[in-house]
Amino acid sequence: MGKAKPDRRKKVKEEYRMRTHLIHGNFESKKWDYDHHVVPPISSSATYRLGSAHRGAQGFFEFANESNDFVKHVPIYIYNRLEEPTLDMLEENLAYAENGEICVTFATGMAAISAALGMLCEAGQEIVAHGVLYGCTYSLMTHWLPRFGIPTKFVDLTQEEELLAAISANTRVVYFETPVNPDLSLIDMAAVRRVTDRINADRPPERQIKIVVDNTFATPYCQRPLQLGADFVVHSLTKGIGGFGTDMGGAVIGPKASYGPLLMYRKDFGGVLSPKSAWNIYVYGLPTLSARMINMQKTAHRVAKFLQEQPKVEKVLYPGLESHPQFELAKKQMQNYEGKFSPGAMLYFQLKDGETVNAAERAEKLIDHIAGQAYTITLAVSLGQIKTLIESPYSMTHSALPVEDKIKRGMVPGGVRLALGLEDWHDIIEDLKDALDHI
Ligand SMILES: *Cc1c(COP(=O)(O)O)cnc(C)c1O
Repeated sequence: MGKAKPDRRKKVKEEYRMRTHLIHGNFESKKWDYDHHVVPPISSSATYRLGSAHRGAQGFFEFANESNDFVKHVPIYIYNRLEEPTLDMLEENLAYAENGEICVTFATGMAAISAALGMLCEAGQEIVAHGVLYGCTYSLMTHWLPRFGIPTKFVDLTQEEELLAAISANTRVVYFETPVNPDLSLIDMAAVRRVTDRINADRPPERQIKIVVDNTFATPYCQRPLQLGADFVVHSLTKGIGGFGTDMGGAVIGPKASYGPLLMYRKDFGGVLSPKSAWNIYVYGLPTLSARMINMQKTAHRVAKFLQEQPKVEKVLYPGLESHPQFELAKKQMQNYEGKFSPGAMLYFQLKDGETVNAAERAEKLIDHIAGQAYTITLAVSLGQIKTLIESPYSMTHSALPVEDKIKRGMVPGGVRLALGLEDWHDIIEDLKDALDHI
């Protein structure tokens, strides 16, 4: 005690590779001091001792004050819903992983998506979104946001002219996922940026259009939208980043100026991430992201190639296959931290009609056979876990979307979504082969 800390860390964090950084986090932070822990403790305190009324007043004054330097400032912790050290650690590392300036976490992915949109839009402004979205995002935009005076126009964002035609004087946000859930089509982020920049050139700052990208499918290991033209990234931490399916969580990553408004939104709408969940994501999820994605992606590629060769399979959509209609765009957008092509661990496939049954019935049979017989593949929604999951988007996760939209966007009854996990890939292929033999 009292002695200066030895200067044992000579390099700066930028000199290390991301995979290392995700394991070790920041060398030092003003937000915590756990120098003797190899693993940081879970903090679990709803409220904080303040010491003096003056300090309490100062804490409230500083909270969400946009002029604060959020990286350097020593926060005065007041109450868990405002700021919390375990959340702070996770947020700092998530922002770094996405190449963003700041991150604010939320209780779930949907809480994060609602916060990003709620913080950016006010009544009278509108959202332009891709026609196929995660089912609850679609439901948020069709059921709830219109009640606050924020309508959404759904268009096909793979077509640049559709975006241009949809943008009006009131457009505030362009929103999409890429790869799109579930059909694995891609949206060209540079093209969306180009169109948006052209329109923003004539607009004052408060009416600039912001691009919000849901990067849940790819994870930052495979794609960093902020480098490719997005203004904000949203995540469901429940999926690939959490990685083990034990906890729910969400995150918004964006520019420094959004930190205060996002913290305040979280404080008032209340969708705060539990520190116990944040700890799991920070200690288990994020540090293993690279190792998991490398292996799951290899398996996805092998399974995609296997499925493509099966006579009962009509088509396989995986951004890593040369047959993917946007393979060139995939190579441009989906790269790991070293710049290597990283098409992710999600795939979508359709079956051919059988002699007596149509493709949709066949797919249901396939999924039911897997649900009953397969050891390595589980019938369940969600994705990005160490266990391989299968589901039918048309009737399950995307049932909220209107039928015409589903069909128009290539999501047919009987399409099957596969989220590859970490099992031995030979076993996954054998389970799939067995199921295909039985339909
Ligand atoms: C799961 C998911 C969400 C919602 O996340 P929750 O954590 O379940 O609220 C949003 N977008 C995508 C692409 C998802 O897969």
